Amino acid sequence: MTTSAGSPPLDDDYFICNGCGAPSSPTEEHLVHRDIARVLLAAPKSPRRDVRPSLEGGFFSGFVHSNGQNQSLGRVNFNAAIDNLLCGECNRHKAGPLEAQAGKALQSFLVDGAVADFSLLRRWAWYFALKFWWYKRPTEDLRAGVLFPVLSTLFREGSSVDLRVRVADLAADHNLYSYMWVAESDGAFFKYAMWVTRGLVWIVLPSSLLLPMPEPVSRVPTVELMNVRRSDLPRIRPRNLAALPAVENILADKRIGEAISVHAGRP
Ligand SMILES: [Zn+2]
Repeated sequence: MTTSAGSPPLDDDYFICNGCGAPSSPTEEHLVHRDIARVLLAAPKSPRRDVRPSLEGGFFSGFVHSNGQNQSLGRVNFNAAIDNLLCGECNRHKAGPLEAQAGKALQSFLVDGAVADFSLLRRWAWYFALKFWWYKRPTEDLRAGVLFPVLSTLFREGSSVDLRVRVADLAADHNLYSYMWVAESDGAFFKYAMWVTRGLVWIVLPSSLLLPMPEPVSRVPTVELMNVRRSDLPRIRPRNLAALPAVENILADKRIGEAISVHAGRP
């Protein structure tokens, strides 16, 4: 965290909300919103009380994540929360509505064969990627509101995301690949982040739409998320993802092999 010359030192309970830019108190923002979870669980009508317990055990307890080549793999706790991100107002009235709408749009795009509500889903993809980046990382730097410029844009209905959001369809069991997350770090942030929602591959990278696709993401067949249907997307095999060093890292780790075999046995 940097502060401009002459600004007073921040005291311990100082918090600038990353959603609204106002001094306030932080809340815990769930990594996975309940409506997004319903899509991952393939249970769009799941009663509220059943969603979070369904993510705790059994099939969903076996997923792993990687935050970069030099970091160890960890089990994903889908019910984890990100601290120091949002105030209560933004949690309930900005992030909540974005993810509730995105949950419906995801279900339509992934399952019902509809044309992607791409403007909304691009905003959600970046919001989700940012949350995941800070999952299990120290969030003290977020207390200064450093994400306000980006989150205030993502929360604004109708705003467009001009950074890359690539998608492809995975020719694999959608239960086995109901979820996956990797990111390759450049030190301070991700070079790219890739995740899977029910067999749909997402890759976001902090690179302008106006620039050619950079390596190594250019080696994976994907298209920019625009007004496409799932059936229009490139069909790729899980091994195509190994062009990304962060995925190669996971595949080389014995534990993912074990996690996958657990899932393959009990999808
Ligand atoms: Zn706020």
